[in-house]
Amino acid sequence: MRMRGQVLPYHIRNEPRPFVIVMLLLCVTPLARAGDAPGPFAWPNGAKAAVVLTYDDGMDTQLDNAAPDLDAAGLKGTFYLPGHSESLAKRLAEWRALAARGHELGNHAIFHPCLRNGPNGAVREWVRPEYQLEGYTVQRIRDEVAAMNTTLLALDGETTRTFAYDCCDTTAGGRSYVDAIRPLFLAARAGEDRIAGDVSALDPVLVPSWAATDVSGAQLIAFVQKALDAGGLAVFQFHGIGGEWIPVSREAHRELVGWLAANRARAWTDTFKRVMTHVEGEQRRLAASR
Ligand SMILES: [Zn+2]
Repeated sequence: MRMRGQVLPYHIRNEPRPFVIVMLLLCVTPLARAGDAPGPFAWPNGAKAAVVLTYDDGMDTQLDNAAPDLDAAGLKGTFYLPGHSESLAKRLAEWRALAARGHELGNHAIFHPCLRNGPNGAVREWVRPEYQLEGYTVQRIRDEVAAMNTTLLALDGETTRTFAYDCCDTTAGGRSYVDAIRPLFLAARAGEDRIAGDVSALDPVLVPSWAATDVSGAQLIAFVQKALDAGGLAVFQFHGIGGEWIPVSREAHRELVGWLAANRARAWTDTFKRVMTHVEGEQRRLAASR
């Protein structure tokens, strides 16, 4: 019988001896040793690339066609709403329900301001004089997108937001507004019709995307293949799906979405917000190890 205050040997107390604990610690610490080379940029769960499906301008065909295709495949998309969207005004509850299902509502300003004189000499006759970025100031576009963040907060309760430059334009009154909106957003989607290859050096508020229009499913899948080859990020910039403006057919959209669902282990498809949260985490990890 054990006496009060008696200290029993370790093997009887069934406790690890102090030197065993020290050995366990030694076995673990080398993995985190300072000075080790950091691993390269990595996508989650061994994926080879990331894919983001974005849909601009708040259209009915996105609620009616794009979202059901995504839901059927178990994929999430990002929907860039301008505050003046007629679909948003008429079908507010459906847009709110879309967010509740895990899709992202993104900021596309209130009045969809664009340059009248676009790149390569293109004149956009449809841009109303009141909403031409040539006549805006940097402060005005900043204030407009900040106000749209409040509208979106009322819709989905989210305080972290991403932005899509209207018409991919990044200037107002002849000056860049990229840095003015930087504090308002986790990330912002630009144009350029290309993948992002080296994501470790990507500026989160100038993420390239492809404005796909009138293309086949095979062409859409080929864009993902470029990202797989480069270990990068493929961001699609869709508008109408199966109708409305700058459309891609429902058939082509379904083909892409089906392919992404079947290849989800290689190509990680998620919202712009979730993908860019990962990108910025990886960028911080790499910067801290330099
Ligand atoms: Zn737009």
